Amino acid sequence: MNSNNYKLETKLIHAGVEPDPTTGAIMTPIYQTSTYVQAAPGDHKGYEYARTQNPTRTVLQNALAAIENGKYGLSFGSGMAATDAVMKLLVPGDEVIVSNDLYGGTYRIMTKVFATYGIKFHFISMHNAADIEQYVNANTKMLWIETPTNPLLNVIDIAASAEIARRHKLLLVVDNTFASPYLQTPLDLGADIVLHSATKYLGGHSDVVHGALVVNDSALEEKLRFIQNSCGAVPGPHDCWLVLRGIKTLHVRMQRHCENGEAIARYLRSHPKVGKVIWTGFEDHPNHDIAKKQMRGFGGMISFTLKDDNIDAAISVLSKTKLFSLAESLGGVESLIGHPATMTHASIPREDRVKNGLVDSLIRLSVGIEDKDDLIEDLRQAIG
Ligand SMILES: *Cc1c(COP(=O)(O)O)cnc(C)c1O
Repeated sequence: MNSNNYKLETKLIHAGVEPDPTTGAIMTPIYQTSTYVQAAPGDHKGYEYARTQNPTRTVLQNALAAIENGKYGLSFGSGMAATDAVMKLLVPGDEVIVSNDLYGGTYRIMTKVFATYGIKFHFISMHNAADIEQYVNANTKMLWIETPTNPLLNVIDIAASAEIARRHKLLLVVDNTFASPYLQTPLDLGADIVLHSATKYLGGHSDVVHGALVVNDSALEEKLRFIQNSCGAVPGPHDCWLVLRGIKTLHVRMQRHCENGEAIARYLRSHPKVGKVIWTGFEDHPNHDIAKKQMRGFGGMISFTLKDDNIDAAISVLSKTKLFSLAESLGGVESLIGHPATMTHASIPREDRVKNGLVDSLIRLSVGIEDKDDLIEDLRQAIG
């Protein structure tokens, strides 16, 4: 099917998926095999060895490309494996400009793994995209942005970043994990590579770890496909199948994440013990105008601080919620609560994180799709 003629809600269900040619099975089978029989050397049906190709993965990759309005999708064993593949496009001496509020694991692979291979990273505030340009030099090869950022939900102007990337021939990578293609499609705004931890909203059910890249350029696709195969961080077919099943309901889940997110953000804002509430839908969010321009909704991610700004006060709230489970990760149907300073962002030195606004009492919510009144009641009794 030429899926690009359809709207996202249709593509999520149908893109890339055809009835199984041998049985007519409507759901793509899990091709649990490591190799494929050849009639004679080289005489095969496009599948030789399962690190290189797997039919379940092929269907998922095509679906991922379609929903991000891209041409090529590549699946990986995790979001970090996808990040690792993108980093391997670089060589020693290359420099990367990165948004300074980002997923802790991304910060870690850059500073602890690839920095030791001679790649230089500049972590900067991209609140004003125009500020990016002053960090570009002859060695700069890549611009890496996460928007909204994790966990401070800063919003970065993708189109303005793409303009700077184009001017200086940099690859623009956008980690679209938090927004998902339901809320924003970075390739449409000029990004070169869209990255996902499909573990989160795309999978949506907290039952799989998976990563994805989507690109439009065939030369870039070829390089990434080479890395995918030669480095081998590929997902198994069962995991591909779980993500394929998850994305079929992305739109209905995201719609509810957005509704619940708004109700909870407004509730928290009215709570006397709550300090700052960060949600991209608030008009006084520092980049709300950009969020409105590039996103189709504001999602279910909320961060807030307590007026009593210390780790113990935050831990006390976390220990009392019953519906919000204390856990890393996000984007599943169930609501989660986390404490970035001691969990996801513990690897960032305190001084650096506080400077960027990631204070001791900051609590991050991934609002699920339960009844919103039950969720509000849970937070009411936990905050006290
Ligand atoms: C979770 C996450 C990652 C890493 O993905 P994994 O699937 O856990 O390897 C990368 N970026 C963001 C924004 C994430 O939330």
